[in-house]
Amino acid sequence: MTAETMLTTVKEELNKRFNRLVGTSSTNLCTHCGWCIEACHIYQATGDPDKSPVAKAEKVRRVLKTDHDWMSKIFPSWTGAKKLSEEDLEEWLHAAYRDCTLCERCVINCPLGVETPQILAAARGALTAVGKNPEILTDLAEIAISRGENLDSYRDSFKHHMTRFEKLVQDKLKDPEARIPMEEQADILYVPLSGAHTIVPAAVVFNKAGASWTMSMFEASNYGLFMADGAKAKKITQRILDEAERLNVKEVVVSECGHAYGIMKWEAPKWFGGQLPFKVRSILEVLDEYVAKGLVKMDQSKVDLPVTYHDPCNIGRKGGIFEEPRNVIKASVKDYREMTPSKVESYCCGGGSGMVACAEWEDDRLLYGKVKADQIKGTGARRVITSCDNCIHQIMELGEYYELDIEVSNVSQLLMDTIIVED
Ligand code: SF4
Ligand code: SF4
Repeated sequence: MTAETMLTTVKEELNKRFNRLVGTSSTNLCTHCGWCIEACHIYQATGDPDKSPVAKAEKVRRVLKTDHDWMSKIFPSWTGAKKLSEEDLEEWLHAAYRDCTLCERCVINCPLGVETPQILAAARGALTAVGKNPEILTDLAEIAISRGENLDSYRDSFKHHMTRFEKLVQDKLKDPEARIPMEEQADILYVPLSGAHTIVPAAVVFNKAGASWTMSMFEASNYGLFMADGAKAKKITQRILDEAERLNVKEVVVSECGHAYGIMKWEAPKWFGGQLPFKVRSILEVLDEYVAKGLVKMDQSKVDLPVTYHDPCNIGRKGGIFEEPRNVIKASVKDYREMTPSKVESYCCGGGSGMVACAEWEDDRLLYGKVKADQIKGTGARRVITSCDNCIHQIMELGEYYELDIEVSNVSQLLMDTIIVED
């Protein structure tokens, strides 16, 4: 691809996304008041004005303005509007990927609600269209797609793993009848991530609560979203929708994963033409329901460390799930400590939006996690619970990097650790 073609494609993709997603408010409304600056954990960790939300958005906005702002068309030097250049693409790669986790904390701290992350996500999508995005994200999305297209070659090893996991569930519950049902007709289709930590604890709870549930071979993670690659993201999601229909389930329950929850809850209905023919819940809501109904009970004496909870941005600020995990945690431990601030004002851990996977920016990611590390330290907690794999990996690494002396796990794992097996 020549440089000229690349720039033309990026411009076209950016404009397409601008028209569909961003809208004029995000380009024209910003008054450069600076209220959002301190809201960003990346600015706070670095003190670098070039990494503030307004500065990052402006790198993209000044190009958008050339087409979408009448004042910029007449007086570009007044408004800072400029023609797209190759240098911009390099700047965008850093501004939209490395230096922004699309956490949306700046949006809720902007008096005008300017959608800075939408602008940067549009830049991600435009860069992806010319292959200028972190290679690992493309690889992970391709692996998920290829796996879906060659399911039979994975089936035996998948079933082998599930048999092993089922034995762990039976041992935990001291119940040889406990099961991990696969591809069966049931009320709930549970969509986990890969790895025992999102399957075994959930299976323990579903069995203990007597739920009608099943799993299939598809997992929840979707790296297409991180690259704003709509085609790939939809392809990965479509398989879960097809499985839900094939198994005739009443609801899809998504594992503890921020972006996977967002995809099923609010992206999929937009992508696939409206309300889905089944209910969508995070497993956090299901755990909360089972605890409230007394279907699972916990022994608080099993955890003697002070515990805190980190709100993943997709589950909390964007998804509005704040109390459900807290209800479960408070029922499971004696010493719960809230971070300051938390819930809607919670700071991103620094690993969201695919950044945990990008080895080339590991040093930056750990630096950007300093705000979260300080928050954790401030609670004195020794066990951090969160509900997203990206957050778990990042907080584990922050624990080592900043010597926090913490254990980290998801809510289901905590519940499994404390569950009372014999009533
Ligand atoms: S994005 Fe909002 S808070 Fe930030 S500078 Fe612009 S108007 Fe002010
Ligand atoms: S979305 Fe989050 S990381 Fe990105 S600029 Fe806003 S506050 Fe910073």
